Amino acid sequence: MKFAVTSKGDPKSNTLTHKIKTYLQDFDLKYDEDTPDIVISVGGDGTLLYAFHRYSSRLDKTAFIGVHTGHLGFYADWVPEEIEKMIIAIAKTPYQIIEYPLLEVMVRYQHGGRESRYLALNEATVKSVDGTLVMDVDMRGQHFERFRGDGLCVSTPSGSTAYNKALGGAIIHPSIPAIQVAEMASINNRVFRTIGSPLILPAHHTCTLKPVNRPDFQLTIDHLSLLHKDVKSIQFRVADEKIRFARFKPFPFWKRVQYSFIKD
Ligand code: NAP
Repeated sequence: MKFAVTSKGDPKSNTLTHKIKTYLQDFDLKYDEDTPDIVISVGGDGTLLYAFHRYSSRLDKTAFIGVHTGHLGFYADWVPEEIEKMIIAIAKTPYQIIEYPLLEVMVRYQHGGRESRYLALNEATVKSVDGTLVMDVDMRGQHFERFRGDGLCVSTPSGSTAYNKALGGAIIHPSIPAIQVAEMASINNRVFRTIGSPLILPAHHTCTLKPVNRPDFQLTIDHLSLLHKDVKSIQFRVADEKIRFARFKPFPFWKRVQYSFIKD
């Protein structure tokens, strides 16, 4: 089996990364940064986002494992004290694969040309480059509303505990193939109206945003921020691809939610 380890880059994560690499090689596993079967991310949820984007072109062949060196994470659920146990589990035990849904973002341009396709593990956000974002929102090809406000956030179930939660979105269990659209400070008064509630879409529905005036947007995909010009539409749906996690021990999602937001 081939493996790679990605580190957050701080001294604690780097030391642990070195330890994991050495131990796994002692068990005759091969270190291969280009085509790993297993990617171990050491740091936090943010580190796993980086690892996901690095290996997003081979998701069907890669399983991820997250080790946290700070606070407990949603993607990083092993603690440094458990490293020996984790190494033996990776080297000796057949692991279970847990799959989580991803978000597909398709950007199309006004003057034709090649569309841009992205996959997000947490979410995508759309904001205007300058001033209020004004966009028509279509649901499943039908006009739904004209949005005016700071922006829109479209998240995956596993990303629902991140930015989406700060926007008042619901927490969705990652076994549900869905995406969630949450508003950022919409303008609502006698003239302008938006739904105001987060919307949860099933896998066979799309949400499409179309510019009303200015066609330039700031699009974020997880930690990445990208400027898109001359945009005709931005379409969101549940991706065909999934992220795969190697699971060696049960750690139910609702326990992780409780640990992260309610108590230790
Ligand atoms: P960052 O600003 O350095 O960290 C964002 C925080 O979000 C970190 O504490 C991170 O945990 C946590 N996080 C990431 N994914 C999560 C998840 N699925 N559930 C719960 N918490 C999660 O940025 P970053 O590390 O590059 O991560 C980018 C993410 O930041 C974006 O995908 C977005 O979700 C989030 N974000 C949140 C807000 C907000 O809540 N208002 C605003 C902007 C962006 P770790 O410390 O374990 O890495």
